[in-house]
Amino acid sequence: MTITENVALVRARIAEAALAAGREAKDVRLVAATKMNDAARVREAIAAGVEVCGENRVQELLEKQAQGAYEGAELHFIGHLQKNKVKQLVGRVSLIHSVDSLELLAAISREAEKRGLRQDVLLEVNIGAEASKSGFAPEQIPAALEKAGEFGGIWVRGLMAIPPICESPEENRPFFRRMQQLFVDNERKRYDNVSMDFLSMGMSGDFTEAVACGATLVRVGTAIFGPRDYTGRKEG
Ligand SMILES: *Cc1c(COP(=O)(O)O)cnc(C)c1O
Repeated sequence: MTITENVALVRARIAEAALAAGREAKDVRLVAATKMNDAARVREAIAAGVEVCGENRVQELLEKQAQGAYEGAELHFIGHLQKNKVKQLVGRVSLIHSVDSLELLAAISREAEKRGLRQDVLLEVNIGAEASKSGFAPEQIPAALEKAGEFGGIWVRGLMAIPPICESPEENRPFFRRMQQLFVDNERKRYDNVSMDFLSMGMSGDFTEAVACGATLVRVGTAIFGPRDYTGRKEG
């Protein structure tokens, strides 16, 4: 299967899952998780109709952006963001999915204000309460959204989650359902600097389940680009 064929297939499966859930296909946006795929492969995905790319590491994003990899598409940041990389990222992407602490939110806000802009972000929820993952506990979300009102450089546009690795996609459903409930509960409240527009969840193995549970952004890598080659990779 080529990248082009995979993009068409993923889009068809999103549409099918949306319709089955009584939703419209256009209400779910596909974010192609482009990590470890070079500029040529990213361009191929965009040519095949990918409208949003999601990158995981700031350094890789900067390199590929300099090569014009994302031209014609919107760019999001979906990976773990270190505070010392905030300066390089703010203003470069239209959405940061992965704000996992109030300290990071404050750092992004400060940098955005310095540049006279507002950075759209999502709050990451550690929905499986996993020690290995960062993110807000679900019960911390109302206070975090309240706190967002104090930060003039950000706009919180919704929530993001990466559920625990499960044997089968169905096992993720309770986590996706809990995220949907958390999203809906907080959508009803009014907070300054917050509009609950996006619920980012679902990856290659489980995006149809996520769509069934209300995801509006799905982040799909392997199902578009094939398996990633981690040999010779350095961390950072
Ligand atoms: C890599 C990645 C994805 C996509 O994962 P696949 O299983 O390859 O679809 C989604 N979200 C985040 C945060 C990622 O790092």
